[in-house]
Amino acid sequence: MKKLTGFAAALLGAFCLLGSSAAFAQVKGVYWMTSGLFGPFPITGLIPTVPKERQRDVTIPVSMWLIDHPMGLVVFDTGNNVAITQDCKAYWQPGLCDFLKPTQKREDTIDGQLKKLGHSAEKVKVVITSHAHLDHIGNVEMFPNAIHAIQKKELYQGWFPEKFQGRSGGAFVLADIDGTREFNFLELEGDYDIFGDGSVQILSTPGHTLGHQSVKVRLASGKSMVMAQDAIWMQENMDGYPAGLNYSVMDYTKSVNRLKFIRDLENAPIFYGHDQDQWAKRSSSGWYR
Ligand SMILES: [Zn+2]
Repeated sequence: MKKLTGFAAALLGAFCLLGSSAAFAQVKGVYWMTSGLFGPFPITGLIPTVPKERQRDVTIPVSMWLIDHPMGLVVFDTGNNVAITQDCKAYWQPGLCDFLKPTQKREDTIDGQLKKLGHSAEKVKVVITSHAHLDHIGNVEMFPNAIHAIQKKELYQGWFPEKFQGRSGGAFVLADIDGTREFNFLELEGDYDIFGDGSVQILSTPGHTLGHQSVKVRLASGKSMVMAQDAIWMQENMDGYPAGLNYSVMDYTKSVNRLKFIRDLENAPIFYGHDQDQWAKRSSSGWYR
């Protein structure tokens, strides 16, 4: 009996320790931003298999996230390059400007958004990049002093995409990353726990691109949320209509399923990279806590 009591006390002590470290590590908040909007254009331009009765024109966000953690600020994706604010067709392939119809203004870019929140690019400790497409890695060069968390394969692919993905004039824009050779890259090969406390976790979700990654955050409230970015563009992908732009459809499908299991088992809502309706229904302050 005495032994049991001792064991119980030890267990209780261990739980207290766990409790206090978890309390320290809580994410203060997650803020949802958009690097201007894309659209309107027919949804079938992105998801060709959407059936007639669900076809519509969409105007979609270009999602970026700020995660406020006691150990430092984390930015997840940096949106479209600031240059398209002035002259899209001088920076992107003109056909992409015509199709996507970006509305980005100067204050919509990641540095403008940070300024609105009382921060600056220099204060950001970690930049996580979901993938090297033009609407996600666009302003990565605004953060020369940050640690840059990206899948190693995605870095290779950004510099030299497969021929079928388009090496010039496609969704990989070399000018977005050609100044990053000496950046401090945390080159990942799979999942990663950013601060070692389980509160900001990178999830490997390849398929849309070779090394796409998503992020799961555990909030101070105890709730979790998943930011899929382009592992899942929008609701239609969840309903079984695959994205029309993939490096590997098989890996893409596995990644969608991986995130669905996290949603169901951990009761964690999934935020999609480009969903018109989800953006319209975002929290009124923009914050999730
Ligand atoms: Zn995207």
